[in-house]
Amino acid sequence: MQLYGKMTATAKNRALEFLKFVNASPTPYHVVKNLAEYYKSHGFQYLSEKQDFGSLLEAGKSYYVVRNQSSIVAFSVGGKWKPGNGFSIVATHTDSPTLRLKPKSRKSANGYMQVGVEQYGGGIWHSWFDRDLSLAGRVMVEEKDGRIVQHNVHIDRPLLRIPTLAIHLDRTANASFSFNLETEFTPLIGLENELSKEETFENGEKAHHPALLSLISREIGTEVSPESIVDFELILGDYEKARLGGIHEEFVFSPRLDNQGMTFSASRSLISSLSDKSLENDDCIRVVASFDHEEIGSVSAQGAESNLLLSVLERLSGSTENFYRCMRTSFLVSADMAHAVHPNYASKYESINSPELNKGTVLKVNANQRYMTNSHGITILKRAAQLSKAPVQVFVARNDSPCGSTIGPKLAAMTGIPTLDLGNPMLSMHSCREMCGTKDFEYSVQLLSAFFQNFSDMEKKIIVDE
Ligand SMILES: [Zn+2]
Repeated sequence: MQLYGKMTATAKNRALEFLKFVNASPTPYHVVKNLAEYYKSHGFQYLSEKQDFGSLLEAGKSYYVVRNQSSIVAFSVGGKWKPGNGFSIVATHTDSPTLRLKPKSRKSANGYMQVGVEQYGGGIWHSWFDRDLSLAGRVMVEEKDGRIVQHNVHIDRPLLRIPTLAIHLDRTANASFSFNLETEFTPLIGLENELSKEETFENGEKAHHPALLSLISREIGTEVSPESIVDFELILGDYEKARLGGIHEEFVFSPRLDNQGMTFSASRSLISSLSDKSLENDDCIRVVASFDHEEIGSVSAQGAESNLLLSVLERLSGSTENFYRCMRTSFLVSADMAHAVHPNYASKYESINSPELNKGTVLKVNANQRYMTNSHGITILKRAAQLSKAPVQVFVARNDSPCGSTIGPKLAAMTGIPTLDLGNPMLSMHSCREMCGTKDFEYSVQLLSAFFQNFSDMEKKIIVDE
């Protein structure tokens, strides 16, 4: 059914499903919780890394592993899989550039209550000024029985703001808006009163505004007192909800598209790939791995450069010999958002390899291997595109321009698995509020679903190393 010009109801519904996902996922902790619930609702079984995998796995069944509550690996075991067979993998990241509360955040100046923040990742920081900001993250709470348990918290209200300086006091603001990240980029959370100046808790704790700790504890539940909060990691986010935009609803205006956009598409494509009988005949394991910490270089216990994916693959393989053999019959798609051509800055883009919104997933190419895409991968993804009828485009950065990178090169180097970089096109990447095309979500789900459904067959026919 054609609803909006060439936009199908399926495409629009997929974008609406994304809006729900991103609006409920202000932090990587929420991304992982929402993905875990989604996988679970489709019959996936939770597997603790503390368990012995070997005795638990069954062909035809699906599982997921979580690390630090901020990275997640989900997989579906093919009906014909046996240890030593390959993996078809899509890898994404759960984090986005943001501002994070400092370990001691309590600040005040000129009658204002402020919170100290650190920048996380390479954000376009000026885009965070004059926005209504909310707060979310994870909180470690001491329960009555002495256990210390993680709670996710999402204070979904306009709580904070970083105001600009009035134009009357800075006539140069339109020509060059620059600011000091330590002194001029501190959010306001309220006005001081007599109480907030004096207030401390019984233990003399002064690290955070007591009113903020009370708000966090109330948000978690009636049982939780501010004193029972042991520690937290809280990040700021745009309070405004993601929504469809543009004259024909052809745009999605949203925070965190990079990379919740491809994290969402990858999870939906894995489930979509299970809708026919192809898993029964699949001799591979289909994997979607979503990692924290890409925006700060992926080096952490749960980032893409950790042993998370490697250890899961190795444990599924059963033996070192099997592991090295199956790396050679596997393939990895690194799925991260891509740059669409910007009409106001078209000269910043290469003239004939510049993707457009709503024209399909972008295969990213870079001769210097900032992206992993090569002929081997293009052959596989072009075939998946043909089978699914999902359009694909290509991106190459200008030779006189810098180029981004992804977790693709890191994962390829660590595992030796042939890898390709792709992602949906978008504008304003790393802004507090980004935008992309409404139709590209469904295109990428179709493309990646076809990759999962047909990889084991393609792998046997596409000969690179004998
Ligand atoms: Zn990204």
